[in-house]
Amino acid sequence: MCKILVAALLLVLSTVMNGGRLIRIPAQTDSDFSAIRNTGYEITAGSRAEGWVDVLVDHRFVDETMQKYPEAKLLPLDWSELVPTTDSNEMGFYYGPNENAMFWATLAETNDMVDTPTSYGTSFEGRDLEFIRITNAPAGAPAILFTALTHAREPGSNSVVIDWAQWLTTEYGSDTMATFILDNAQIYIIPIVNPDGYEYNNPEGGNQRKNMNFTTPVASDGIDLNRNYSYMWGYDDIGSSADPYDGTYRGSAALSEPETLAETIWIDSIEPLGGFHYHTYGGYLIFPWGYINSPTPDQSTFESWGNQMAAENGYEVGRAAQILYPVNGDAVDWSYGESTHEPMLFFTPEVDDDGFWGSQNDTTLIVTNNLECRYMNKLLCMNLLSMVGIEEATSTQFDGTVMELSLGSNPVSAVLNYTVSGAVPTSMSVLDVTGRIVAVPADGNWVIPANLQNGIYFLQAEIGNGSRFLSQRFTILR
Ligand SMILES: [Zn+2]
Repeated sequence: MCKILVAALLLVLSTVMNGGRLIRIPAQTDSDFSAIRNTGYEITAGSRAEGWVDVLVDHRFVDETMQKYPEAKLLPLDWSELVPTTDSNEMGFYYGPNENAMFWATLAETNDMVDTPTSYGTSFEGRDLEFIRITNAPAGAPAILFTALTHAREPGSNSVVIDWAQWLTTEYGSDTMATFILDNAQIYIIPIVNPDGYEYNNPEGGNQRKNMNFTTPVASDGIDLNRNYSYMWGYDDIGSSADPYDGTYRGSAALSEPETLAETIWIDSIEPLGGFHYHTYGGYLIFPWGYINSPTPDQSTFESWGNQMAAENGYEVGRAAQILYPVNGDAVDWSYGESTHEPMLFFTPEVDDDGFWGSQNDTTLIVTNNLECRYMNKLLCMNLLSMVGIEEATSTQFDGTVMELSLGSNPVSAVLNYTVSGAVPTSMSVLDVTGRIVAVPADGNWVIPANLQNGIYFLQAEIGNGSRFLSQRFTILR
């Protein structure tokens, strides 16, 4: 039994890795099911109750299948399907330097919304420092930035941005939020801030955290890039070190390293509203200030957004000194404190990976981490773009009637429009994240009370005196 299952899985996986895709086709009745099977498709899963069938289709027949079933939906690729198909993976299920190059080049080639990786400078050892832009927004749309691998031994940060780019591009056009984000923002990604250190750690997963400048201007084992940014650089010896062989050596001067200098000049040129500087590990969501344990003028925003974004994954939210230890000369302090335009609202998520290289042979944990961070990424974009109510409509079937709760067009500011179709609700209520009722809307144009705090809420329709509930999440931001 086990062997058969494993053999079947390997077969499916090998097809997928050779370019197959899973397509979800609506199917309600027995004849729908058998019609699809009789066409010769390989059915991988299905639910009569929910009315769908998944088929595995060779990449050559994907377009044809989508035309044949206009209501069908291309399912996003799973991590295991995204793993590069080279004979020997560089870093297990993490993407190594060459696999990154291949992934981003292919994504750009196959998707009009993705620009070819572009250089913003050169590393100490002469490698290109590259960013990728993904957007379908008009020129001048706000920028949002995601970075990874500032510390070279934290590959779980790179997995997250790969998954994020893959999800955005795959779900564009079918997922409301992916579509909204790419239609309204320019998403920038730096997948490897420290390419020299990452190459040094390739392929076995070394312990190099800092960059590879071992010589200038003094002998060292590298400079910690995340202590080399210029805001409050070297503020004290607690948040960074003056010892060239310490793990948090800040270098001889602010922005002394080509990696940080080029990155900051480039970031100031795109002026992002904010973003995430991804690190691993521990499961934290850190915001400025890092150099002292004091709030910034935007403390309430950082705190409110942080708590919302970590509501599902349980990451610990706060300033560096509250969670771990103070940090000076890091990227979030620079982004908030020293940019040449409006303060950029950046966080440092420490992905909840199993150590630095712990998931090298474990796709399950990488996928879990990616999903948890994908949710944070979505909410961050939504918050930065000041948008409300862009969830998909929720629907359910009851006694043969489809009932749907949908939110009105966006952006929503003071009034939340909603409709319930298929049934007349017995009552409507607004719940907070703890399930407490905070308001009872009377009609479909609910005026959001001025005293309702920013955050995530649920609009709930009760149908048939408690026999059915439909619930739709939305966010209030002012
Ligand atoms: Zn780090």
